[in-house]
Amino acid sequence: MMDELAARVRAGERAAVARAITLVESRRGDHRNQAQQLLAALLPHTGHAERIGISGVPGVGKSTFIDQLGVNLVADGRRVAVLAVDPSSGRTGGSILGDKTRMTRLANDEHAFVRPSPSAGTLGGVAQATRETMLVMEAAGYDVVLVETVGVGQSEYVVADMVDTFLFLTLARTGDQLQGMKRGILELADVIAVNKADEQHEDEASRAARELSGALRFLRGAADEWQTPVITCSGLHNLNLDRVWQQVGRHRAWLDEHGGLERKRCDQMVEWTRALVRDRLLARLDAPRVREAVRAAEAAVRDERLTPDQAAEQILGTLDRD
Ligand code: GDP
Repeated sequence: MMDELAARVRAGERAAVARAITLVESRRGDHRNQAQQLLAALLPHTGHAERIGISGVPGVGKSTFIDQLGVNLVADGRRVAVLAVDPSSGRTGGSILGDKTRMTRLANDEHAFVRPSPSAGTLGGVAQATRETMLVMEAAGYDVVLVETVGVGQSEYVVADMVDTFLFLTLARTGDQLQGMKRGILELADVIAVNKADEQHEDEASRAARELSGALRFLRGAADEWQTPVITCSGLHNLNLDRVWQQVGRHRAWLDEHGGLERKRCDQMVEWTRALVRDRLLARLDAPRVREAVRAAEAAVRDERLTPDQAAEQILGTLDRD
């Protein structure tokens, strides 16, 4: 049955792609089994897309930018998938991003597929579903996969770990504001675009881009490392999006030249495996019987009946008996 679905996904049938994603996002045990069978069948046909992460604070213009970039890429003959990792969707039931209505042109284009963030509860769950959905999209023949996320907590790191190139959108910021930008994010970014460089804001944006570029030079190490370019653009007015895309392409070419793309993707798969092991161990710690043992062991530590080491061994012993 999964072979048939795999064949239909590979033929690019939208209904089959949607069904495959539903399976991949499901937390039901039988669905997870089917999803893994499906992915195993699709795996040899994956890996052909350019995988790009796109991030920035709410309001920076992500959905406007992605809609326009996607439309431009489709006009160039590409097939574009847009996925989202929304760290808030599981916890609050609401979501900061990812609803289809935000990218209306792309969502209605037959050469594009826009998928809102899965609400798989934990960030780890969302990340796994998104990685697996990316493989489904690749097998279905999409050759550009854009993964959108928002600058909250760990989600940027999670997305950076599943893409080839990480594009960071920002607004014109200079001086003190620049200091306030999260250093970690600047280190993650492969390409930075100062967005909304339009109407009366073009000069301001260019100035900010120059300052940012200067600041990045201090962060970056050796000359043979990738130097993150900073460019101005406007998603709303479709200005310079070709240049942003060109820089994304340059970064890919640079990875290729340095033998990095294959290695980066292999490293990501191994890191994904490790993350799954960590997540599942943590989930086992959450089982009721184990939680009971944790409480008992912690109480014993407080009463000085057990050393922390003995308590830890006792808890792990409960896991082993599972
Ligand atoms: P997101 O929250 O990052 O997805 O941002 P949106 O794409 O929803 O945009 C937030 C607001 O900024 C909307 O009112 C957009 O119309 C506006 N906006 C988005 N891109 C641009 C741009 O390039 N230039 C200008 N001037 N406004 C923009």
